[in-house]
Parts: sequence; C-alpha cells; structure tokens
Amino acid sequence: MVDLAVTVRDICAVRPTVERFAEATPVRPCDGFSAVADAHVLLKLDNLQPTGSFKVRGAAARIGSLDGEARARGVITASTGNHGRAVAHVARRLGIPATVCLSENVPAGKVEALRRLGCRVDVGGASQDEALVRARAAASADGGPTLVHPFLDPVVVAGQGTCGLELAEQVPEVGTVLVPLSGGGLAAGVAVAVRSLRPTARIVGVSMDRGAAMHASLAAGHPVEVAEVDDSLADSLQGGIGLDNDVTFPIVAALVDEVVLVTEDEIAAGMRSALVDHRLVLEGAGAVGLAAILAEKVSADDRSPVVVVCSGANAELAQIARLATSP
Ligand SMILES: *Cc1c(COP(=O)(O)O)cnc(C)c1O
Repeated sequence: MVDLAVTVRDICAVRPTVERFAEATPVRPCDGFSAVADAHVLLKLDNLQPTGSFKVRGAAARIGSLDGEARARGVITASTGNHGRAVAHVARRLGIPATVCLSENVPAGKVEALRRLGCRVDVGGASQDEALVRARAAASADGGPTLVHPFLDPVVVAGQGTCGLELAEQVPEVGTVLVPLSGGGLAAGVAVAVRSLRPTARIVGVSMDRGAAMHASLAAGHPVEVAEVDDSLADSLQGGIGLDNDVTFPIVAALVDEVVLVTEDEIAAGMRSALVDHRLVLEGAGAVGLAAILAEKVSADDRSPVVVVCSGANAELAQIARLATSP
C-alpha cells in the first residue's frame, strides 16, 4: 500500500492541541432518519463547534503548533468562510494577526462574521481558487504570514481527523460513516482515523452534484478542475482540490469506499428536515449526509449503525427562514 500523508498517530499527536480550541462534539441517535434509512442512524454534531463548523479542528492543529517566531508573523488563508472563521478564532485566542482572502461568491453573513472575529478580510475575484492565489502570494513574501490551507496540509487533515477518532470511540460498532466531501480534509482525516480504529467500517463521502471536484478527480484517476457554481446551498463545498493535490486526493482515493452526489433539492430537504423535524440548524454543506439518507442514496444493508457527520451550522438566516416557512 502507498504511504499516505497522514497516519492515525499524527491525528493522536495533534489531539491535545485541538482540544484546547475545539469541542469533543456529541453523537446523538436520530429516530426520524433511522426510520427512513431502516438503520440505526446517529448524528455527529460538529455543527456545535465554536465558529459553527469542524474547521476549528484543523485550524487549531496547524496554528497551535506554530513556534513563537511564526506566530509573530501571523497567518493568512483563503476560505469559503468556515475555514477563515476557524483560523480567525484560533488566531485571536492566541493573540496573533490573521488575514482571510475570500471570493465575491461568499455570502455576506459569512464576511460579516469574519470581520467580527477581528481578522483582516480581503474580498475579491470570482472564485475561491483566485482567493487562494492572493493568499499564497502574501505568504511567500519575505517575512510574510504562514499560509493555513483548508485541506492541502497534513497537519490540518490530522486536526480534522480528531472528529473521526471521537466518533469511532463514541460508536465502537459503527458500520458506515457519511462525511461531507469537498477538498477532502474532513473525509481524509475521518477516514484515516476510522479505518485505523474500526477497519470494517465503510466510509462514504457526500458531495453536491454540481462542481464536485473530488468526485470528478477520483473518476479520472488524478486531480482535475471543474467549473465552480456560485449559487449552491452548500457553498462551503465549493472550490477545486488543487491539480497537484498529494495530500487529500491519495487518502480519499485509498480509503473512501464510495462517493454519493446530492442535488440542490435534496440538500434543501436535508436542511429542512434537520430544522423542522429535529430543531437542528445545519448549513447546506453540513446537511449533505442527511440529504443522502432522505434521498435513499445510501444502502445500509447491515444492522450496524450509520454515523452522519453534520459538519457545519453557518447558513444565512434568510435561508433558514425560507426553509422553515416553505411548504
Ligand atoms: C469545509 C467544509 C466542508 C468540506 O470539507 P473539506 O475538508 O473541504 O472536504 C463540509 N462542510 C462544511 C460545513 C465545511 O465548512
């Protein structure tokens, strides 16, 4: 087997650092989704993290391990919002400067939330990939800040993997894990942890059906570019995986058993059911696993539990209101 960029040891090594900034989130059984799936469904509630998404895990692992000199230079990142928020949060807790580069597609609420977290926000360009180019340029300048990439960094992936360690401990008999999949930081980290602790568990990635770069790359056998969509409920799943991705692509290719795609309507149904039936606020990206269950796109053909990773809560309030009142 090929050597993967992240091992379960790496995940265990960053866990104490991650725990200084992130919660060990609860796992809750869910009768409604269990009935639909005809399986025991449990939700791993990373929507309850500080900053409203699992991204605080990776940011904590990366920034928490910088030395004093690097901390003084600060950190910079490009993000669809949640990673930027996580970086800003951890940086503020450590008292170090942070800059977040965003594309113009990012919803206004997320931009405002970043400003409130006290970081510098740099908005411009039509895509996240362009925002990343700006962040890279600043980071490569002499004495520039450290780039904290949302997924192309083994330390960040190890941080996200702590979610997988927790769920494998919380649900020892886990049979299937549904995990949202975009750049693959979360899926790769969770897959390494779960596969190592529960070797027989199936790992299923869930992406939106438009602009699913990892799905297209797996089909091609190497990283490929796809056109970005600018109006998805799952805006946190936008962006490419990087054409020279040697971190998450090989891990996802080796360890993720299947990738399921969900439509906008299915994502809306997942968010709506979470909200209306379970009083759970999830953003679109955080609800893709539930969407896949409601659309009966996951086969739970054995009696072992299905754990659905609910990755984030940061939906626009207007969007939540629309979903709550639509028939
Ligand atoms: C970033 C993000 C994802 C996707 O994570 P990747 O590591 O890019 O695959 C899923 N859900 C939410 C809420 C996110 O913020």
